[in-house]
Amino acid sequence: MSIDADRLWRRTEALSKITDPDRPWTRRSFTPRFLEGRKWLAAEFHAAGLETTIDAGGNLVGRLAGADPSLKPIMIGSHSDTVPSGGRYDGILGVLAGLEVAQSFIERGDRLRHSLEVYDFLAEEPSEFGLSCIGSRALAGVLSNEMLEMKRPDGMTLREGIQFAGGRPDSLASMRRAADSIAAYVEVHIEQGRVLENEGIAIGVVTDIVGIRRERITVSGRADHAGATPMPLRADALVGAAKLIEAAHERASARSNGPQPLVATFGRIEISPNAANAVPGEAVLTLEVRSGNEAAVKAFGDALVRELTPALAELRLGVRSEPISHVPPTACAPAVCSAIATAAASLGLSTRELPSGAGHDGVFVARTGPIGMIFIPCLDGRSHAPEESIEPHQAADGARVLAETVRLLDATLG
Ligand SMILES: [Zn+2]
Repeated sequence: MSIDADRLWRRTEALSKITDPDRPWTRRSFTPRFLEGRKWLAAEFHAAGLETTIDAGGNLVGRLAGADPSLKPIMIGSHSDTVPSGGRYDGILGVLAGLEVAQSFIERGDRLRHSLEVYDFLAEEPSEFGLSCIGSRALAGVLSNEMLEMKRPDGMTLREGIQFAGGRPDSLASMRRAADSIAAYVEVHIEQGRVLENEGIAIGVVTDIVGIRRERITVSGRADHAGATPMPLRADALVGAAKLIEAAHERASARSNGPQPLVATFGRIEISPNAANAVPGEAVLTLEVRSGNEAAVKAFGDALVRELTPALAELRLGVRSEPISHVPPTACAPAVCSAIATAAASLGLSTRELPSGAGHDGVFVARTGPIGMIFIPCLDGRSHAPEESIEPHQAADGARVLAETVRLLDATLG
């Protein structure tokens, strides 16, 4: 099963260069620049021989009809939007690997039993509307009217945004896919971390897309004059916050190995009065916990607060927590994972299983059928930054594994 690695790399370079010139590599969803990239992609899809459309949710879809119309489709793809100044390869690699795989089947005259659909999902990255994964939400039928009325700062509604991207927001029901309506979805993506590179492994087989829980933790003490209040009399909320931060770091570090690692981050902290000459009276911290193990994600913050309450009380501090958001983990399907591992092994490529610490469209596509993801290494784990970098042979490895995975799934799935 061969693909044209040079063509894949040429296209990757060409699409990445459709960027806002003053801040590479930027192609924000719902902008003229995004549509410029889309126009280029649609022309490539069409020239490759795919039946190319934009669905009601604004996804670009290239379809290759299968020999057996009674079978559900196999879907492959990713997204062509970027974060600001971000990912040169984040997203586009999966779309272009999908295109390359479909085109190589066409060129060899190798007819699949299942129809193959290549997706460029609309707005996977957080958009100016405050929502991510818009096209895959539409596919799964979970893009609500409330979401369609969300506005970006210039007043445009998401409903208007989908229209701008070529979709038909009043016909979303027509594109909705029910549970168990696709044979499989497989996405190639850069890892966005350092695990594969550190271990010198070519291909990551993603086991699950982690669950993400955010909690607001408030430490309450007493704001006092920083010069006139002796140390033993203080109730310094930031000192209590420091204890929480250190304990969370230690606890998460202890769970960083094994099949379902957990990460915990205090990425945001607000203290008051926040003045050089004041003892901090209150600290409000945002704790984010991610893991494929939902029970562990749910329990982490509560256990942290409960077990540190006595130590903070000794410092005359109160502590309480409240949930902000909770997104459960999404498991990749064992049948798809094993097809990916078998495909990589048949190509002589090393693999390891790992979770995806970042969210992806697969979270929503999983509502319609089994999903899997193929990770390739990226330089120093950098992503969502201008430094994001991959080698041509790594892109080609991802596309080859995708092609062989599609061939295996086509042969084995009903
Ligand atoms: Zn991405």
